[in-house]
Order: sequence, then structure tokens, then C-alpha cells
Amino acid sequence: MTTFPDTVTQPGLLAGRRLTLPGHLAYHGPVPWQRYSGNPGRAALLDAVEAAGLTGRGGAGFPTARKMRVAAGGAKRAIVVANGCEGERMSQKDRTLMRLAPHLVLDGVMLAAHAVRATEAIICVHRGDPSVAALAQALGERGGDPVATRIVEVPARYVASEESALVNFLANGDARPTAKPPRPVERGLNGRPTLVDNVETLAQLARLARIGPELFRAGESMLVTVSGAVSGPGVYEVPAGSSVGAVLELAGGAGAAQAVLVGGYGGSWLALPAGNRVPMTHRALSAAGASLGVAALWVLPASADGLTETAGILAYLAGESANQCGPCMFGLPAIAADFADLAARRPALSRLRRRLGVIPGRGACGHPDGAVRLAASALRVFAGA
Ligand code: SF4
Repeated sequence: MTTFPDTVTQPGLLAGRRLTLPGHLAYHGPVPWQRYSGNPGRAALLDAVEAAGLTGRGGAGFPTARKMRVAAGGAKRAIVVANGCEGERMSQKDRTLMRLAPHLVLDGVMLAAHAVRATEAIICVHRGDPSVAALAQALGERGGDPVATRIVEVPARYVASEESALVNFLANGDARPTAKPPRPVERGLNGRPTLVDNVETLAQLARLARIGPELFRAGESMLVTVSGAVSGPGVYEVPAGSSVGAVLELAGGAGAAQAVLVGGYGGSWLALPAGNRVPMTHRALSAAGASLGVAALWVLPASADGLTETAGILAYLAGESANQCGPCMFGLPAIAADFADLAARRPALSRLRRRLGVIPGRGACGHPDGAVRLAASALRVFAGA
């Protein structure tokens, strides 16, 4: 029977400063490997992840235990890939986490590897990202980790952080998404089950393994990046499910801003002040016509024009596609041009609506769907359409 502590003293993932190995052990304590040894311990770890309700923090919000069970049940031994490629320009949470708490991420990598019987682990980070140095230093400080871990730098492109793009890059140097099925967790690198988990997911796993599912659920946190028209932009660790307004208050408040972009470039606009009340959960944001995505909030300055801002983001997203599927090659440039027309108060609404209806669900990855979601939310919030 696995036992967990009754109380927890550490508040969450971030201590507010970079923790070297001694500081990490003093703040978080060691991983209680004795709870998870052998096959019974592995099963207990998977059960704890399921009971905690841990979901992916890279945008999709998929249940982590379900993905782990698929990887663990494959005919071949699994590989763990820690996804630290923060392709979303409005998000800084993964970089901040890897810089300040690299050992918590590495603990999570080891726990995930144990849970799925992986024989190797790879940490993927964008080329030139300063967190590569923090992770490399942390790896050098550790000794005795049971699974060999290496850092791989990936081209710093928006879609390169998509899980099938990562696996494709690791296999043959091509950082473009591939068609699914099979998903990487079913058949990934070298035909092996490849568990790709966001680095915050892994750090949360490391915390959950220490304190158990009940305390984890009671004190679950999330990392949110706040930027735009706020006086205190930055990465905030907040209780999971905090409202948009409560998070914005931590960053100085949104003042007279008319809207906030939730979830980054592939996210959605929420009108303010009504949007302040919405909890930052997948379910609540979805009911409000938005999506949590990478948990980023960008406050639109009061003087800015939402249609013009959206046109700029759509043009960026069109330029960042991997140019291998019709919806991206033709659809995204077309809706970016339509938005530029709308922003210039030229008629484009009816053809734009037609286009938005035919693009979703037709790409090899969710990139075009994210752009359509953003465009549709901009029409609702800024054009009343
Ligand atoms: S949908 Fe777009 S970004 Fe995704 S694989 Fe196809 S071309 Fe690339």
C-alpha cells in the first residue's frame, strides 16, 4: 500500500529563485523512490497520476495517466521526450520553469521513464534557448539517475514543438508534424512508444509523486504567462482554476482594457471586463468560447485595434505553417488577408466566414484550427459578428 504525507509545506513548482541540486532537495525533498519501486510501485505511480487528474500543460490538456498507460503497454520499450520547446510567443512559463527549477523537471522525466518502462529520455528545447544551459548544468549536478538523458536542440519554429514534429525531427531532422494515427505514444521514435510530455506536466508529476494525489488536487497549481498592457508582466504560479481576473490582478490588473487574448496565438479573445470572471480551466474557457491553450494571457492595450492585432497574428501564423497541407498553404494566408481587409474597414466578412467554415479538422496538426479559433473569437469580440 502506498502512503503519502498528510500535509505539504512547499507551495508549488517555483521557489522564486534558481535551485541548484542542494537547494532543490532542501525545498522539494528527494523523490520517494521507495514508494514506487518495482512493478507494484510502477502501478502505484500510474494510479496516483490518474487519481490526481493530472492533465498535459502543453495546450491539449490530455489526461497524463491515459497517455502513460498506452506508452507502458507497448510491445517495445518506451522513450520519454520532455517537450521544453516553447513555440508559442506569448508563453514564457516553460523557459522560466526550466531555468528556475531544472531538477524538478528532471525528477519528472525520471518518474515518467519509470512509469512507462522507458530506457532513454530526451529533453527537447528550442535552439539558442538559454534554458539549455540551465538544464545541462542540472544534468551535470546529478548522479545515479536510472535512465540516460540527453538534451536536443530543435529549430525555433512555431509548429516544431508539436509532438509528432518533435518525433519526426528526432528521427530524421525534419521538424514538421506527421499525419496521425499513429500517435507518437503508440508508435514514435524508432517504432517505439514515445511519451511526449510538456516540461510543466513533468514538473507537476514530480510534485505529485512526492505529496500524493489528494494533496496534489487540493493544492494544484498552474503556471500562467501574463503580458501586454499590465504593469507586472511575467510568469505567475497560481492555484489551478483561478479566474482570468484574479491572475490579471497579480500582474497589476487590466485597467480599462477591452479584451484579453487567452491561450496564445492559437487561442481566443475574451471581452473584458466580463471575461475576468471566467475560471482558467479547459471546461470553463470552452464554455466561454475560448480555450486554455498554453495558459498565457495577453492584455490588449486600450489604444490598440483588435482587428489589426489579429490580422498581424494571423499573418505570423500563416508564415509559421509547415506548408505541407492545403488548409495551411492556402487557407491561412487567405484569412490573414481577409483580416487585413477588415482591419482597414474594407468588406471581407462574408468570404471570411465561408473560409472559417471549411478549414478546421483538415490539417495534419492543429495549427490551422488554432488560427481559425483565433479569427472566430476576434469576429465575436471586435466585430460583433
Ligand atoms: S496543418 Fe499546417 S502546420 Fe500542421 S502539418 Fe499541415 S501544413 Fe504543417
